[in-house]
This record gives sequence, structure tokens and C-alpha cells, in this order.
Amino acid sequence: MERMRVAFFGGTFDPIHRGHLRLATAAAEAFALDRVLFAPVGNQPLKRGAAIASYADRVAMAALALDSPGSEDATPSGEQGRPAARFSVSTLDAPRADGSANYTVDALAALAVELPSAQIFTLAGADSFLDLRRWRSSDRLLELAEWIVASRPEFPLTDDRLAPLALTGAQRARVHLLTTVHEAVSATELRRRLRDGEPCTGLLSPAVSAYIEAHRLYR
Ligand code: ATP
Repeated sequence: MERMRVAFFGGTFDPIHRGHLRLATAAAEAFALDRVLFAPVGNQPLKRGAAIASYADRVAMAALALDSPGSEDATPSGEQGRPAARFSVSTLDAPRADGSANYTVDALAALAVELPSAQIFTLAGADSFLDLRRWRSSDRLLELAEWIVASRPEFPLTDDRLAPLALTGAQRARVHLLTTVHEAVSATELRRRLRDGEPCTGLLSPAVSAYIEAHRLYR
């Protein structure tokens, strides 16, 4: 039997937006993923300042974005008789009881224990992946999962750009570039727009916009 192909998609998701959904959809289609786990991070050690919205709000928004009818075009169509990949929210990277930082290496190790027979992938945008050497245990991260790295405007993905990561041949073989994502949207820019009362039409799912409004987030 074929191994289940599961992707871990970590991020702050503050809030989840169209760029995240496009990345996951493109990756699911290109790499025949069975499941994509969107895992908001409790306490990201590398980003200056903590997340703005609480962990509970970020999880709730991710669940809304993945459930809402507005995200249908973000869900893979299930070509060639394959069922569409299932997108779901995972609390694998929830805040730790002692309030310490969350490290992706721990989340991936936990996932490997939870799903011992699955083939595990990690999704990342080019900006985060190019920072990989600052992540805890970067060599181990490349062992625990195969990486699907998506292009992002301003962050071209070429082998030249990867050179500073000094990947070994074996590591490079576990990194797959996805150059078809061209979404000029970031959570930082969305938070600015929300603060300034500018529209975010098309960039946030309608259910997420309604949640932000109802909970008065990012004011
Ligand atoms: P911020 O603006 O607050 O830094 P972000 O929009 O980059 O947030 P994150 O939650 O930090 O969102 O991103 C999670 C992952 O999704 C990261 O690997 C990031 O590179 C990737 N990502 C986010 N937005 C895009 C996008 N527009 N195109 C491609 N990848 C993206």
C-alpha cells in the first residue's frame, strides 16, 4: 500500500490569508498530498515580537478559512481520480505549558511518532526557508521531512539563492521548489490594512473577516 503523504504547514497565521491557502493548494496538487495540517505556532522564537492575535483566535481563524465555502477554490480538485487533499488545523505546535518557545523540530518529531507510516513533508514560503539555518536543528529538520518550498514575490527561488544554506547533496534532494505561487500578500500588510480600515477583499476568507470584525482583532 502507498504511504500516506502528509504535509505539516507551520506558521503564525496571524491571520491566515490567501497566500497560505494558495501555497497549500499548489503543493497538494504538485506533490499529491493526502493531507495538509495547518499548525499555528504557539510562540515563534524567530519573529520579532509575539503574535498579535491569541493562539485560540489564530486556530479559530484557520479552522474558519479551511471550512468556509469561500475557500472552495483553494481546495484541490482531486485530479486523476485522486481524492482531494484534506486540509485541517493541527494543534501540534500549541503553546507549551511552561511558556517556552516552540520549535518546528519538536513538532515534526511528534508528528513522526503520531503517524509512523506516513511520508512527511513540510511546507514553507521561500522567505522562511531561506532562513532555515537560524532554525533549531536545521539538519535534523531536513531529515525529519521533505521540504516543499514555495516562491513568494520578492523572494525568487533559484539554486543561487539556496547556496548560503550550504545544503549537502542529500539534503538538497529533499527540498522541492514550487515556483508557481505568486501571491503578493502578507499577514503584516493585512494587519496594517485592518488597522487603517482598508478593505481586504479577496485576501481573507469572508468567514475570517467576519471573525476579525466580531472579535475586534488587529485594531
Ligand atoms: P507576516 O507578514 O506576519 O510575517 P506571513 O504572511 O509571512 O506573516 P506566516 O504565518 O508567517 O505568514 O507564514 C507561514 C508560512 O507561509 C511561511 O512559511 C511563509 O513563508 C508562507 N507564506 C506566507 N505568505 C505567503 C505568500 N504570500 N506566498 C508564499 N508563501 C507565503
